[in-house]
Amino acid sequence: MGKIRLLDDHLANQIAAGEVVERPSSVVKELVENAIDAGSRTIDVTAEEGGVKFIRVVDDGSGIEPDDLELAFERHATSKIRTGKDLFAIRSLGFRGEALPSIAAVSRVEVLSGAGDDGVARRIVIEGGAKLAFEEAAAPRGTDFRVKDLFYNTPARLKYMKTVQTELGHITDYMYRLALSRPDIAFRLEHNGTQLLDTAGNGDLQQAAAAVYGTATAKRMIPVEAETPDYKISGWIARPDVTRSNRNGITVVVNGRYVRNFQVAQAILAGFHTLLPINRYPLAIVRLEMEPTLVDVNVHPAKLEVRFSKDAELMEAVQRAVRAALQRETLIPSGMAGR
Ligand code: ADP
Ligand code: MG
Repeated sequence: MGKIRLLDDHLANQIAAGEVVERPSSVVKELVENAIDAGSRTIDVTAEEGGVKFIRVVDDGSGIEPDDLELAFERHATSKIRTGKDLFAIRSLGFRGEALPSIAAVSRVEVLSGAGDDGVARRIVIEGGAKLAFEEAAAPRGTDFRVKDLFYNTPARLKYMKTVQTELGHITDYMYRLALSRPDIAFRLEHNGTQLLDTAGNGDLQQAAAAVYGTATAKRMIPVEAETPDYKISGWIARPDVTRSNRNGITVVVNGRYVRNFQVAQAILAGFHTLLPINRYPLAIVRLEMEPTLVDVNVHPAKLEVRFSKDAELMEAVQRAVRAALQRETLIPSGMAGR
């Protein structure tokens, strides 16, 4: 008699949750990404006590079809990819179908979602992975997602949570990056009753930068625009007199997805050449657009890391684009071109 057993779904979800839901900001990230994938124009996030006590994300996107609401909480249930081929041409932020079951395994979740114009909606309540209610309700098109008492049933993880300020810092940082990656969406963030972010959602990246960094700083930013056969590069960089003490002021967006990428950050720095004081880093928002086949986003469960298939060519293009932007503003003499 063998000893190997298949884990039951609940246990499998709890294990996956350990990877997907590291802290409250991971919940915000997954829910807001779902709202973005649903085509929302407005996304409202409310949090209490650093998000450990309460997180609510309300969107005006497509909503979840009544027949899909229970299934959405099953593991590997997704509407975003169907075949192996899709995996190499991902255009949505999500695709793994892991977020909802993971979040529901380690918190108390209540979702109200309507997918039509008739006001007909459904409500589901799940606590620690167990379904407590599933019923008809009334709501406009869109999704209202509440997460209470994160990690209430995983004390080891709860104990690992940092202060409210630290957890909130991770949430605001992420919301700022999203606001910068998608200036066409209106984002709002409120914590313990205080409004921390409010963007217009009119597509103007400089306005989104003003909401995040303040108007004075946004006015010190200059546009970056460049195109190669494979890549379209756009964004804003601050003039070299506006600097930061670390790389956190660099936001890299690949096909609408905020990512962390050391190589691109290095290429941006190289573009500034010697204009930055030693140990100072720029403020930059660099958006890269390319065929989905040129970038692998399936590197890590949180999808913050990506791999580029032609990385040398891309880094060269980024460096040149930054350099050209600074030259246009005569911040670099044009004789230094190509160095
Ligand atoms: P993934 O985003 O990888 O597909 P999730 O577990 O995050 O997986 O979500 C499962 C499915 O639930 C999604 O594929 C989508 O169809 C649906 N869904 C989740 N959140 C929303 C939302 N805010 N609006 C519309 N549909 C949603
Ligand atoms: Mg998702």
